[in-house]
Amino acid sequence: MISSNKYTTLKQVFGFSAFRVLQEEAVDAILAGRDLAMLLPTGGGKSLCYQLPSLLMEGVTIVVSPLIALMQDQIIALKELGIEADMISSAQSNDAVQEVYTKAKSGVLKLLYVAPERLGSPQFITLLRTLRVNFFVIDEAHCISEWGHEFRDDYRRLGELRANFPHTPIAAFTATATPKVREDILSQLGLNDPLILRAPVLRKNIKITLRERDGAWRADLIAILKKHRDKSGIIYAFSRKETEELSEFLTKKGFKCLPYHAGMSPQLRHDTHKAFLNDETQIIVATVAFGMGIDKGDIRFVIHTSLPKTLENYYQEMGRAGRDGVDSEAVLFYSGSDFYTKKRLIESNDDLGYQEMILQKLKSAMDYATAEECRHKMIAAYFNDTIQPCGTQCDNCLESDIPKSDISVASQKFLSCIYKTGERFGGGYIGEVLLGEREKMRDETHAHLSVFGIGKEMSKVVWGIVAKRLIEMGAIEPDEYKSLKITPIGAEILRGKKSVSIRKERLVPKKATAKEKEYETQTPTHFDAFKKLRAQIAKENGIPAYIVFGDKTLMEMADRLPTTKEEMLSVSGVGAVKYERYGERFRELTLQFVD
Ligand code: ADP
Ligand code: ZN
Repeated sequence: MISSNKYTTLKQVFGFSAFRVLQEEAVDAILAGRDLAMLLPTGGGKSLCYQLPSLLMEGVTIVVSPLIALMQDQIIALKELGIEADMISSAQSNDAVQEVYTKAKSGVLKLLYVAPERLGSPQFITLLRTLRVNFFVIDEAHCISEWGHEFRDDYRRLGELRANFPHTPIAAFTATATPKVREDILSQLGLNDPLILRAPVLRKNIKITLRERDGAWRADLIAILKKHRDKSGIIYAFSRKETEELSEFLTKKGFKCLPYHAGMSPQLRHDTHKAFLNDETQIIVATVAFGMGIDKGDIRFVIHTSLPKTLENYYQEMGRAGRDGVDSEAVLFYSGSDFYTKKRLIESNDDLGYQEMILQKLKSAMDYATAEECRHKMIAAYFNDTIQPCGTQCDNCLESDIPKSDISVASQKFLSCIYKTGERFGGGYIGEVLLGEREKMRDETHAHLSVFGIGKEMSKVVWGIVAKRLIEMGAIEPDEYKSLKITPIGAEILRGKKSVSIRKERLVPKKATAKEKEYETQTPTHFDAFKKLRAQIAKENGIPAYIVFGDKTLMEMADRLPTTKEEMLSVSGVGAVKYERYGERFRELTLQFVD
């Protein structure tokens, strides 16, 4: 059935009519027997780059992947396409391993997934030598580098691969790699004159928004969730406790929602993950423990409830949205205080080198949150990439013409008041001094200071907002008792060398209910009906819904309403095998609509 031409294979097996950016170059390099290092953002379509050539080559492809869950997902998806794939992991019995091995030896198997630690075992190497391995794939290759944020000890052994198989090409793939990590991948894997393919660090289909986590932020959150009614999403929370509380809160608000964190039993975590994959639950409120194993293509939103520790983490977490290329959204709620909470946590670590490195990264994350440039551009710059401002896919580009107020004078009053009261008080008290609230003074000399009562033009709430803005800018810093200290940036503002501006709207705090009403809910569509059918089929077959067909495929169906087999096969994502399995049922549904 499989034709030997890459284009026909692309269409017949995978159901796609064109390669995406850099995919064809990668496929050609592998077919030519060349080593390859590929950096493609999440959702760029890395898997196809090695799966397709594997089909066109004799022998079996060995794919090293860091997590069993990831491998399982890939294998289910491949089997759905009619491709023979299997895995060998430490979780299997000897008999099971033997069975897989026999399949590989006989040449039936096209792709064999293995855990990295396997390749450190001499027995396994001996076994591999008896197979006809066409090329090796190292997935999530950044795990090999200690400079990476997901360094894995067992990836280090992969360096021996080249020595053991000097003539078998190696193809390495990753989505996130700083220059240092990239160097490590090339050198540690011993890649030989590899073709290096690197797509810009840009997730075009993800709209990025940052929101201040003010008193009404949960209403903001609900408004966002309502906008994504019935769509899958992840909310990253700060702590285990927060995942549980927030999940309970959202459940009460009528959302299908479950918590996920490392303190839960493995079984419960597994069930939760599965409920998410199968669309039985809509939202997962998780700690960062909900990580690499989530290979779900149709995640429409990723929300952070506080500032992530590093931009590497952030980029990877928010990057779990929209892997299928469909428009998705990433929202980060932050507060100036996040920086200090995390800083204190980091400082409790004894390793000074680590402290310094992570603090630097945390600082970059805070700068990112408070800056007013294009978000996509800032992320790209962080990974040493230069791109144009996105124009339409981030809050800063979209809101660049939002009116701003100059609050330099108010800021000077505030800073001056901190200074004159000895940097010993929190923002609330500073506001009271500025407002001249005599009865609240904790030290009666404060009522005689020149700053006493000089801020009556603004309310206490607005003084709080000024304080927040100054914390965001790094002009003042709360210590562990929440007393505000002036930083060098604050000193510049105080001397009139630096101005302070703020978006006008921020000075007028909104009521929670008004926010919720901002978004309306939509009426069910053809797409919803297709999704329902997909969920039913997924349930019948015991596979995740997105493996039946991706959102993008369903959207195209809903849009075009294909009524014949040919039309159905021309929908992106509908290959021959999948059409045979499910195509008819979707076609029948279309016919109902057309009638
Ligand atoms: P990555 O591993 O780079 O994050 P995946 O390999 O999971 O990305 O692919 C992301 C999505 O893109 C999948 O839904 C996949 O089916 C789809 N995809 C890959 N290649 C193409 C293509 N050439 N045309 C259309 N969709 C594609
Ligand atoms: Zn932008």
